[in-house]
Amino acid sequence: MVNDNRKVVLVGTGMVGMSYAYALLNQNVCDELVLIDLDKERAQGEAMDLNHGLAFSGSNMKIYAGEYSDCADADIVAICAGVAQKPGESRLELLGRNAAVFRSIINPIGESGFNGIFLVATNPVDVMTRIACVLSGFNPRRVLGTGTALDTARLRYLLGEYFGVDPRNMHAYVMGEHGDSEFVPWSQAMLATKPVLTICKEHPDRFHKDDLETISEEVRGAAQKIIKAKKATYYGIGMAMTRITRAVFGDESSVLTVSAMLRGEYGQTGVFTGVPCIVGRNGVQRVLSLSLTDEERTQFAASSATLEESFRELNLS
Ligand code: NAD
Repeated sequence: MVNDNRKVVLVGTGMVGMSYAYALLNQNVCDELVLIDLDKERAQGEAMDLNHGLAFSGSNMKIYAGEYSDCADADIVAICAGVAQKPGESRLELLGRNAAVFRSIINPIGESGFNGIFLVATNPVDVMTRIACVLSGFNPRRVLGTGTALDTARLRYLLGEYFGVDPRNMHAYVMGEHGDSEFVPWSQAMLATKPVLTICKEHPDRFHKDDLETISEEVRGAAQKIIKAKKATYYGIGMAMTRITRAVFGDESSVLTVSAMLRGEYGQTGVFTGVPCIVGRNGVQRVLSLSLTDEERTQFAASSATLEESFRELNLS
């Protein structure tokens, strides 16, 4: 951190960006928030709107529409700029359009002298995070994406409902691409410290593995379902980003399923994908290597191959 002033620069003040900003303000997560958007008037309007809520927030946050030069002393630059997913469009189809957007953003941020942490939410988030890493030349540990943080929250919510337990006591992860090839390693899913697969075996009358598969399908399809109903998803991801930001500022060493670069974990190297990571002040402190079954490792490898292929198609490096 540059000093005690917790500074976030947000690039992209659309629905996702502003849901993040609103959550930052309400949870009092930073001291200074700079808003940047291609549409400068929009960024200014959003800054005004948030400032008018300051009196009710219990926060002294300094909020203003700024320039890329404001990134110089920022701790976190969060990128939510891009084009939103259309109904029926896969996240990977968004790639080409959003890669061009990132070129116009990362270069001026680099020129500002920014030396903090990138947090990427733009879809397809795993590939966009890798693009941000390549374009910035940053240490990969300081470039993280929202990955499967939101999917994991959705999973825990549904598992909590199924088992009748507080979602915070359901320990389970969605891993891999934030998208169609994501999967739930059920061998690693626990209710408190008891494996859910054991619970299914012990209570076949009440709990069944097929239901768990239905839950993971529901998680995978959640974004499309919300997009069909209300055109975009934003509150959940805004809160997921806020959670990650809090883990960084608090140097929490919290386990969050962010998109991080793998260096041999799960037999993969170079790819950015959603994995449980220990997140703190310097970004990704460590990628956790879970003891996946052979079948789960195969699923992980297939998901990684999809992401690798998408990145290669861009011919960035
Ligand atoms: P939006 O259209 O409401 O906002 C996008 C903003 O980006 C707009 O304000 C636009 O002016 C700005 N922008 C576009 N090009 C820019 C540029 N070159 N420089 C600066 N700003 C630029 O879209 P949204 O609903 O907020 O979604 C934003 C992104 O977040 C999309 O890629 C979407 O798919 C993604 N998303 C990710 C998750 C996740 O889990 N990671 C969840 C939901 C949405």
